[in-house]
Amino acid sequence: MSRVVIYTDLDGTLLDHHTYSAEAASATLSKLRELGIPVIPCTSKTVAETRRIAAQLRLDGPMIVENGAAVWIPKTWNLSCTESSVSEGEMWCHGFGIPRSVIRRQLAILSVEWGNRYQSLCDLSDKQVMSITGLDADSARLAKERHFCETLVWLGTPADRVAFAQQVRELDMRCVQGARFVHVLSSGGKAEAVSWLHRKISTERSGFEDALSISAGDAENDIDMLQVTDLALLVRSPVYEPPQIARAGGLIISDQFGPAGWSEGIETLLDRVMEDRVSGRFLPKRNDYNAA
Ligand SMILES: [Mg+2]
Repeated sequence: MSRVVIYTDLDGTLLDHHTYSAEAASATLSKLRELGIPVIPCTSKTVAETRRIAAQLRLDGPMIVENGAAVWIPKTWNLSCTESSVSEGEMWCHGFGIPRSVIRRQLAILSVEWGNRYQSLCDLSDKQVMSITGLDADSARLAKERHFCETLVWLGTPADRVAFAQQVRELDMRCVQGARFVHVLSSGGKAEAVSWLHRKISTERSGFEDALSISAGDAENDIDMLQVTDLALLVRSPVYEPPQIARAGGLIISDQFGPAGWSEGIETLLDRVMEDRVSGRFLPKRNDYNAA
């Protein structure tokens, strides 16, 4: 069963919201490795942070970082580069949207009205980032190495955030809400990156022709991604209610939180895919697969 690709959020989904541990998912990750099913991080984290976590979890495929603003692909995957792609060591990067420096210049337009209600994560000291996130010193430093998305600590009310997001939209950018931060980016977010990468994998990577896509996430910034894959897993959070996902079928919600919920949900979806293949049913198509 190799023709499945899993796209997963990290914080609060594959990693515990409080401890950042993936221990509860380790048995499922080993099983997926044996089955040859790629697990592709799709996260608000930076490439520097994601590289480190991917190495720890023995994930050696592509990575989608900064809320879908950039995709990093190992050259060994033999996917065709884009004209604008940038090569770095064993990987190449495709960026969607404008660089962070330009996003910051655009945001400066709004800072007169809103500047006292947010702080850029990158302007904080490592110690401040550590206290907000619970990350260790190295991880806090890596969290600030952003290239395509501006991450904000929101100090205003939720209503302020909605009004701010509207003004950001008027500047042709968008705000997405993660578990801890508001992210401002100019690309289509995680959904655009997952769709772009999955199209590439399922047409160019040998053995993955017409591969089935599964996404997993826990927060508002995952909603769009959970709507574009063939199957989707909403992982329950210990700190907020599951967001509403608009899709007709193919979505399950875990009972357990974080990585334990990730394991439970991924195993359930894979069993379902397996049953359908054994019984000879055609591969499901998005939104007409009743996995619930
Ligand atoms: Mg998350």
